[in-house]
Amino acid sequence: MFKINDNYLKLPGSYLFSTIAKKVNQFTVENPDKKVIRLGIGDVTQPLAPAIIDTLHHAVDEMAKAETFHGYAPDLGYEFLRTAIRDNDYAARGCDIQADEIFVSDGAKSDSSNIQEIFSLDNKIAVCDPVYPVYVDSNVMAGRTGTYDPATECWSNVIYMPCTAENNFAPEFPEKDPDLIYLCFPNNPTGAMITKDQLQAWIDYANKIGAIIIYDAAYEAYISEENVPHTIYECEGARTCAIELKSFSKNAGFTGTRLGYTVIPKDIKSNGVMLHSLWARRHGTKYNGAPYIIQRAGEAVYSEAGKAQLKEQVAYYMNNAKVIMEGLKNAGYEVYGGVNAPYIWLKTPNQMTSWEFFDYLLEKANVVGTPGSGFGPSGEGYFRLTAFGNYENTVEAVERIVRL
Ligand code: PLP
Repeated sequence: MFKINDNYLKLPGSYLFSTIAKKVNQFTVENPDKKVIRLGIGDVTQPLAPAIIDTLHHAVDEMAKAETFHGYAPDLGYEFLRTAIRDNDYAARGCDIQADEIFVSDGAKSDSSNIQEIFSLDNKIAVCDPVYPVYVDSNVMAGRTGTYDPATECWSNVIYMPCTAENNFAPEFPEKDPDLIYLCFPNNPTGAMITKDQLQAWIDYANKIGAIIIYDAAYEAYISEENVPHTIYECEGARTCAIELKSFSKNAGFTGTRLGYTVIPKDIKSNGVMLHSLWARRHGTKYNGAPYIIQRAGEAVYSEAGKAQLKEQVAYYMNNAKVIMEGLKNAGYEVYGGVNAPYIWLKTPNQMTSWEFFDYLLEKANVVGTPGSGFGPSGEGYFRLTAFGNYENTVEAVERIVRL
């Protein structure tokens, strides 16, 4: 008789975005004349940039001829893409990362949820709270967490590191030493960033206690301030304790096209075994590689035309962020983020819970956002708006909220 992996059953039934979708569907059925504006989900809305589209067309044509056809991609990804990543994302910033330490994938969601497979189930994980839910959920599925307590909204065996207005949304070292530390900066959902000194302190801490930092830099392209790190490898000592996850989704609009990469330096070892070789083994066995066409499109992200066009896209979203930030600030809201990330994190007014504010905003302004509590217990009393909408809708949504 087969048995299921009953760790899956531990996950609370209703995932954040499906609950939102249900509520919004019900509202639109009951109010067919109302225009609902979605500032909730973290998907991009701008089309792929022309430099990427041109490259895609060209790569498709290559697949039509025997001489230029490509079958299975190399396990780590094509050399042309890994070299472009190394040159632009690392060497140009003075970071010592080699092309063969870069693993091309279909995106940061898969990598951030799969990376835990190469670690023992005994490892204790620590996560920023609130944060992108995939880190905890994937550890739940693996059986690394204990049980969920609906009252506290916490899992046993998970170290939560609160990130709130009180600590400027930067986590403090936990009381108990973790083995795997998930850091996400710029942060989803708070939009917060940490300074280079703060990140350096995390590296020093991880090296001291023998922990690994899994650093999710999916929103790196949105950084606008000086003195904040674009990659964890700007910090000294990161090569022995840090894995970095990157995505082409948010900087280049690949949410539907799918492309990302993970960096594992060869200096990270446990009892002489390189994590790099374990992840290479996993890539070779459990992953089919991102398609040639898509990896060529990724290479175009680093072309001169690609860089210029994508800079404009990021600026477009960040202008939306400014509209939201300024509008809500003027209306008396307490707002955070929005400077180094396309996310605006606001304190709910009048001590409403996150879901109360969700309902209020949907009913009164017909605007959809994301309840902060869906990202972890410390997100309760906060709310996330995103800058990924189009400009006109963003302006209209802010005007409606301001009028409430
Ligand atoms: N990491 C963070 C922090 C995210 O917020 C998201 C998507 O919202 C992802 C990773 C997923 O990236 P990808 O589209 O590359 O899977």
